[in-house]
Amino acid sequence: MKYILPKHELNALLERWSAEYAVLAPQKAGAYSEFLPFTAPSELCLEEPHNTRYPPKALFFPQSEAILKYKQNLGQLESIEAVPQKRVIFGIRPCDAKAVTLLDTVFAEGDNQDPFWLARRAETLLIGLGCNEPGATCFCTSTESGPFHTDGLDALLTDLGGEYLIELLSERAVGLFGGLTPANPTQQESVQNLQQAAEQALPKAFELDGLKDKLDRVFDQDVWAQLSESCLGCGICTFLCPTCFCFDLVDEAQRDTRVRNWDTCMFRVYSLEASAHNPRPTRKERTRQRLMHKYSYWWEHAGKLGCTGCGRCVRYCPVGLDIRAMLRKASAYESEALHAN
Ligand code: SF4
Ligand code: SF4
Repeated sequence: MKYILPKHELNALLERWSAEYAVLAPQKAGAYSEFLPFTAPSELCLEEPHNTRYPPKALFFPQSEAILKYKQNLGQLESIEAVPQKRVIFGIRPCDAKAVTLLDTVFAEGDNQDPFWLARRAETLLIGLGCNEPGATCFCTSTESGPFHTDGLDALLTDLGGEYLIELLSERAVGLFGGLTPANPTQQESVQNLQQAAEQALPKAFELDGLKDKLDRVFDQDVWAQLSESCLGCGICTFLCPTCFCFDLVDEAQRDTRVRNWDTCMFRVYSLEASAHNPRPTRKERTRQRLMHKYSYWWEHAGKLGCTGCGRCVRYCPVGLDIRAMLRKASAYESEALHAN
C-alpha cells in the first residue's frame, strides 16, 4: 500500500516516533551531512542529492567499540552485553540500506555471528529516501541496485515536491505510518515516472557481466601497478565504504578492555605478519585486494556483489581515483595486452 505524507507534517511524525524510538536522520555536520539524533526542530538534509559522508554501517558496527572486559590478575573475562535501543534510521538511501543487507552476510550469517550487530539490527527500522537526482559519482544501477531499490528497507519515501509518497515494505513499518492518506492514481503515476527518469539518468559505469572472470584472469598482471600509481594509501575509500568491514582487535591493558576498531586493507600493516612477511607489500597488491574483494571474492563468499555503487570512494579519494574507471581499465586489460602482442 502507498500513502502520502505532506512535507510539513514530517517533523511532527518524527517527533511522535521519538517517544518510542531513538530517531536518527541526516543533518548538517560541518560541510557534510551525517546521521544524527533527531530532536525537534532539527533541520534535516533530505534535499541533498548525495549520501551522508559517514556510512550508516557505523550505526551497527561502530568505528571503535569495547567488546570484552577482563581482569588480568584473576584470569576472569566479563562479556559486554549489547543493549540496543529501539531505533529508526530515517532518510537512508537505497544503496546504503542494501549495504546493510550485504554486511548481514558477514555479521549475521554462518557460524560466527556477531552479537552486537545482531542486537542492533533486530531493534532498528530502516526508512529509506529514494534519489530523484543521483549524484555524478553514483553508479548504483551498474551494481545490481538502483535509486529506488528497496533491499533492506522497511519503507521507501519518494519526494514528490510538496509531499512524500510512502511505500510500506514491512509489518513493522505499518505501525509507524498509521493514519496517512492513501496515494491516488495520479500521485502513483508521478512516482513511477520520476523513478524511471532517475534510473535512466544514471549512465552505465562498466559492464558487470563477466567482470569477475576478467578480473580473476588479470590477477597477476601489471595493470594493478598502473591503477595504484597515484594512490596515497590513506584508506579513506575503505573507511567511508558502507560495505567494508575489516577490523582489528586491541587489548587496552590500562582499562582491561578488548576493543574492536575499524581497519583497512589499504594500510601496509594490515596484512603484515609477525614473521615480517607481508603478502600485500605494496599499494599494487592492496589496490588489487580492494577491487577484487568487492567484485570477485564477495561473489565467492556470499554469492553477491560487494559494492552498491554509492560513490563515496570516488567522491572522497584525495587523488581522484575512480573505481569505475579502474574496473573498466582492469577488465579491458586482457584484450588490450593481447592486441599489443
Ligand atoms: S582514498 Fe584514494 S588515495 Fe586513499 S587509499 Fe583509497 S584509492 Fe588510495
Ligand atoms: S566500493 Fe566505493 S562505490 Fe562501492 S560501496 Fe564501497 S564506497 Fe560505495
